[in-house]
Amino acid sequence: MTHRTPFVGGNWKMNTNAGEAQSLAKALTTHLSTDSGVEVAIYPPFVYLRELASVVAGSDISLGSQDAYFQDNGAFTGEISMSMLKDCAVKTVLTGHSERRHVIGENDMLVNKKTRAVLAAGLQAVLCIGETLEQRENGKTDAINEHQTRAGLEGVSKEQLSQIVIAYEPVWAIGTGKTATPQDAQNAHANIRGLIASMYDKQAAESIRIIYGGSMKPGNAGELMAMPDIDGGLIGGASLIADDFLSIIRAGLAQGV
Ligand code: PEP
Repeated sequence: MTHRTPFVGGNWKMNTNAGEAQSLAKALTTHLSTDSGVEVAIYPPFVYLRELASVVAGSDISLGSQDAYFQDNGAFTGEISMSMLKDCAVKTVLTGHSERRHVIGENDMLVNKKTRAVLAAGLQAVLCIGETLEQRENGKTDAINEHQTRAGLEGVSKEQLSQIVIAYEPVWAIGTGKTATPQDAQNAHANIRGLIASMYDKQAAESIRIIYGGSMKPGNAGELMAMPDIDGGLIGGASLIADDFLSIIRAGLAQGV
């Protein structure tokens, strides 16, 4: 069986101020041993990236961006390009987060353009997908995951797939305290992996990390990550508390995904 290094990302969303961002990043670098066996990334607000780059330098934590625009420069007021992010030592970018899709209004085509631009810049893309509560209640979970995965990965080659992590995040579980049961999440992950096998091949499917997001906390991280197709987590609320985020990372390690 292919070994997949667990991935745990902390999406800080529009939270923290300059001081809090520094303290949180410092607490993580102090307590996370190098060579932890888990790939760890944090996604702070844009404006703190540059100063946090020096806090995480030399640690095992990668700096990530919550979003990015697909054009490299020009008249795109308010947007941030890949080269600007690379100037800030960013290594990984979230694309298609449910808040970008459902609050800001991004569609599949824009998510795909952004994902391809991330890959073209040599960065890692964490492509987020997942169904709303209404879609789940109508039995559309797998269909939505398939649609968003196909659309998000359109034009992405098998070689580029190693730069992709897929985050399955049921929208109804994000920031709500509700979590998919480990078995429900496992079923969704297994279907997504099967889809990658049909879009690419078996080897690609066995190698890609598919992580779960949606109210993951120290209390439920272990049982979720123990599932065979759950390779880590994307963490919102609990990533703002250093001890909680560190416990989730340890849970990922313990499962030896
Ligand atoms: C997220 O932002 O991707 C997320 C999963 O948030 P939370 O952990 O707060 O549900």
